[in-house]
Amino acid sequence: MDKTVLVTGAGGFIGGHLVADLLRQGVKNVRAVDHKPFDSWYQLSPAAENMSRDLMTKEACYEACRGVDEVYNLAADMGGMGFIETHKAECMLSVLINTHMLMAARACGVARFFFSSSACVYAAEKQTDTDVVALREDDAYPAMPEDGYGWEKLFSERMCRHYAEDFDLVTRVARYHNVYGPHGTFDGGREKAPAAICRKVIEAKLSGRHEIEIWGDGQQTRSFMYIDDCLIGSQRIMDSAVDIPLNLGSDQLVAINQLVDIAEDIAGIRLERRYKLDAPKGVRGRNSDNTLIQSELGWAPSIRLEDGLEKTYRWIHDEITRERSRVQGTAAE
Ligand code: NAD
Repeated sequence: MDKTVLVTGAGGFIGGHLVADLLRQGVKNVRAVDHKPFDSWYQLSPAAENMSRDLMTKEACYEACRGVDEVYNLAADMGGMGFIETHKAECMLSVLINTHMLMAARACGVARFFFSSSACVYAAEKQTDTDVVALREDDAYPAMPEDGYGWEKLFSERMCRHYAEDFDLVTRVARYHNVYGPHGTFDGGREKAPAAICRKVIEAKLSGRHEIEIWGDGQQTRSFMYIDDCLIGSQRIMDSAVDIPLNLGSDQLVAINQLVDIAEDIAGIRLERRYKLDAPKGVRGRNSDNTLIQSELGWAPSIRLEDGLEKTYRWIHDEITRERSRVQGTAAE
């Protein structure tokens, strides 16, 4: 508990939760770094050493890694399909963060380095059916990842491997599959499907216009991992002896239409569905094969989508209604 742990991307969704979780467990020194100004962080834990720095620069990475025992490197320029399909160059520039962080971790004598990779490293040709065969770790090769974002993740995974082989830096890699939960992006263009659908259902309920726009035909399938499983899994992978990338995702496969069903059940309404067929929709089907994580760690994500989505829905609902009251209050002044 006396170790110093650095979390990059700490102003973001997963990073903010991870900082809070490490502190909750009694880790004394948690350094939290993000390039956003503090008032834009989803969660700001006062007990952490919070730093606003641009980790694309080598200097900032060296400053962040000084005196650190363990690094969770989560910082990345990313978002849901609507973002990564239209911002490929920006997504690829995260390679600057990952390169400089590895260099800094090695130079500063960091003991363990965790990298958050993604299911986007898998080839689209293995994800063409809604009734998809779940992706196993070795499906990443021969490589043909998601253009832009996925290529950068696969390259940085590879760099982690070679930093371990060539420089003895202990690196651990998790391939996250669609993480969702409270304290994350739910509007503005970077949001992912669970948050976007909760927001649309809430807006339909609040406005009384009982309709919803769905990207694609709604039959595309995915699995969604609740944030609590992501936190447990990331720390278990970090502490493990597994030096190859592991899937970290739920294997509860659902169609986007079923995700909407669940959100409607939580809201207690039914909506007329309009399908936007030309919207970014990603691969046709994607699921996580959890055989390897189960055999290596004796554990795999298990929180049901129905339970996690309820908590996410309630949080987004509170955020939207609070913002509406604030705007109405300002207008009345
Ligand atoms: P997020 O966008 O909420 O958090 C990422 C954070 O990184 C942001 O707060 C951003 O400001 C910060 N960042 C970006 N560029 C930076 C820079 N130059 N210097 C410092 N900070 C910078 O995303 P998230 O959902 O919390 O994802 C965390 C990590 O997990 C990312 O690496 C992401 O690619 C990966 N991942 C997430 C998911 C998911 O479903 N959320 C799925 C696969 C992989």
